[in-house]
Amino acid sequence: MANAPTRRSFLQMSAGGLWLAAPAALWALGCRTREAQACGPACSATEPNIEGPYYRDGAPFRADLVEADVRGTPLVLSGRITSADCRSPLAGAVLDVWQADGDGHYDNDGTARLPADRFRLRGKLKADDKGAFSLRTVWPGHYLNGRTYRPAHVHVKVSAAGHRPLTTQLYFPGDPYNDGDPFIRRSLIMDVSSDRGAPHAHYDFVLVPS
Ligand code: FE
Repeated sequence: MANAPTRRSFLQMSAGGLWLAAPAALWALGCRTREAQACGPACSATEPNIEGPYYRDGAPFRADLVEADVRGTPLVLSGRITSADCRSPLAGAVLDVWQADGDGHYDNDGTARLPADRFRLRGKLKADDKGAFSLRTVWPGHYLNGRTYRPAHVHVKVSAAGHRPLTTQLYFPGDPYNDGDPFIRRSLIMDVSSDRGAPHAHYDFVLVPS
């Protein structure tokens, strides 16, 4: 989802980090000229999004959130985490994921009686040496926010050494509530395919150096 750093992402960089912008700028220039065929879609830092009221600290590290009593359609969520050039992998970056189940319920919304140490549909995982990650979860359901339903979404915090922490949400194409939601951003809609049976969502995060 990403390539040439936007003006906004450059402005977000601190003065101390400007030297990191220089090679990214040169690379972006290449993207617009002779190397355009190799650059793909536009590169920009991943947009932040609201944290919402349901985050819990302390989720365990695991790549599979689908426990026996979790309701919802199985979903694989994978992607990469890179720095602002959209190419340099951030090995060891940590994703902290939380979401509603297929019925639109979080484990802390008052609808479930679970042990305090149970983290249902919450987990952390580390990106590998290529910045890649893969998570097994379920397709989140809708829940009411005031008078309207929120579109399906997955919450995530992303952190990596030398980069600004990111809190955002990932959305699904074609959701009936995408159009009326005040928080959704087009850049946060994942690519979703079902070519190999179970739905597979993909998103590449781009973090800004601190
Ligand atoms: Fe939410």
